[in-house]
Amino acid sequence: MKIIYNKIFLEHNTGNHPENKGRLIYFTQLSNSKINYDESILKLVHTKEYVTSVKKHCLRESSLTLDTPVCKKSFQVAVYAANAAIKAAEEKAFALVRPPGHHAGKNFGGGFCLFNNIAIAVQDLLNNGKKVFILDFDLHHGNGTQEIFLDKKNVIYFSLHQSPPCYPGTGLVSENNCINIPLPYGTSDADYINSLEKKLIPILYSFNPDIVAVSAGFDSYYKDKDSLGFGIGFNLTTKSYKKIREILKPHPSFFVLEGGYKPESIKEEVDVFVK
Ligand SMILES: [Zn+2]
Repeated sequence: MKIIYNKIFLEHNTGNHPENKGRLIYFTQLSNSKINYDESILKLVHTKEYVTSVKKHCLRESSLTLDTPVCKKSFQVAVYAANAAIKAAEEKAFALVRPPGHHAGKNFGGGFCLFNNIAIAVQDLLNNGKKVFILDFDLHHGNGTQEIFLDKKNVIYFSLHQSPPCYPGTGLVSENNCINIPLPYGTSDADYINSLEKKLIPILYSFNPDIVAVSAGFDSYYKDKDSLGFGIGFNLTTKSYKKIREILKPHPSFFVLEGGYKPESIKEEVDVFVK
């Protein structure tokens, strides 16, 4: 599987924030992928008012929310990240982007997210008549993605995440087409794989999507445990991600990077999917 990457993703400058350019340190030797710059795709899922407000925050370098700092270039970088997600969907590739996206909803950002990269790519696929299954294995619940697709046709959102208590505090129960699997702090491979086998497989196989869109967050990897604060994290090893790879094998899939705050977590587990 090909990686979509561009050095522009290092230019969303957040200083010492956990979501910083150092996360991609192991990939900086990659050559730059050609990525479109098209702001109009933001409208696929976000309101015009929200897009304008993000632009203003970036121009003033004033944080979007308390936990989401931005710099002057962040708007432009975030537009490239969303376009990279669309390219990943077209090429069945892995979009190695930042800022991440799954906490951004129609009219809100936060949780280090400006625009919902994967949701923009998924809405584009839905508009082209495709049936899409979204798998989100980031440690956190993708509240933005759920808000965007709740009750929409031809799409299922399936998330495994830590809850409670963990940011953003949503995803405790399933709602219609949004299937939520809350798991406790320190979840092991055995319990995680059990959820994949008992819950993910039956729903994925019976839905039979044209494509699977994966919100790939490696803050669920054991090396990231407690990196955002004590009591936050799972004990997953490569075994769990290999199981996900095996389950997805019969389905055309693409991936978009979400969380993962130890550079080695991202390096080691991106390799599981791209090598
Ligand atoms: Zn996360």
